[in-house]
Amino acid sequence: MEIYIYVIIFIFGSIMGSFLNVLAVRLSNNESIIYPSSHCHNCQHKLKWYELIPILSYIIQKGKSNCCNTRIPISYLIVEIVTGALYCTAYHSFGFSYELVISLIFISSLITIIVSDIEYMIILDEVIAVACILIILFELVFFGLEFTVNKILSGILAFITMYGIKMIGDKMFKKESMGGGDIKLMFLFGIVIGFPLSICDIFLATFIAFPVAIYLLFSRKDSLIPFGPFLAMAAILIHISKVDISSIINFIVK
Ligand SMILES: [Zn+2]
Repeated sequence: MEIYIYVIIFIFGSIMGSFLNVLAVRLSNNESIIYPSSHCHNCQHKLKWYELIPILSYIIQKGKSNCCNTRIPISYLIVEIVTGALYCTAYHSFGFSYELVISLIFISSLITIIVSDIEYMIILDEVIAVACILIILFELVFFGLEFTVNKILSGILAFITMYGIKMIGDKMFKKESMGGGDIKLMFLFGIVIGFPLSICDIFLATFIAFPVAIYLLFSRKDSLIPFGPFLAMAAILIHISKVDISSIINFIVK
């Protein structure tokens, strides 16, 4: 029985992934998210329902559009699979619970941000804003005022810490060391994973980014790597693995 639940959640996640991808692309290009309906970005052909099935459409069409044989970016397929997998992992961690609702909003907003930041070097303010408002509202309804105020304070502390790091970085490198989006992201992390953990997130993100930075340094000449996707990936990892700060302190002390 349990396996069917995972299959359904995976399908739901991959449909959401397909939507989040479109959302990231359209918002980054200042396009409407409602109109026009999904179309081929090469010849503008309106996509039929069977061309819109997540994962399967890509595989059946062998990564090319039916209308004009243009290559469909592999990132679409990756985002659909990853979103499906992350939704399943979130369900595994939180079960059917209030946390799961918040978790899915958190994961969805971060996937959108990862796509827009990798493809366009943009961290979408509107995505952060909508996610924060929804999460704070749900926290208030599900867990009460005290819990929510604590989370908001965590968000503010995480934001201030990152702002401080940016100020120091700007002074050290004598140029913009970090985008404003990375700082705003910290507020979103704070209200979900809490304050000290948001700081662990910066370390974990640096740790994940390091090999990628080295690789890019040697493979491309002029490469600017956005830090946002790493911050977001680390936050998703910390969030779904349900680590808490006391277990990290225990780990370090022992
Ligand atoms: Zn086309």
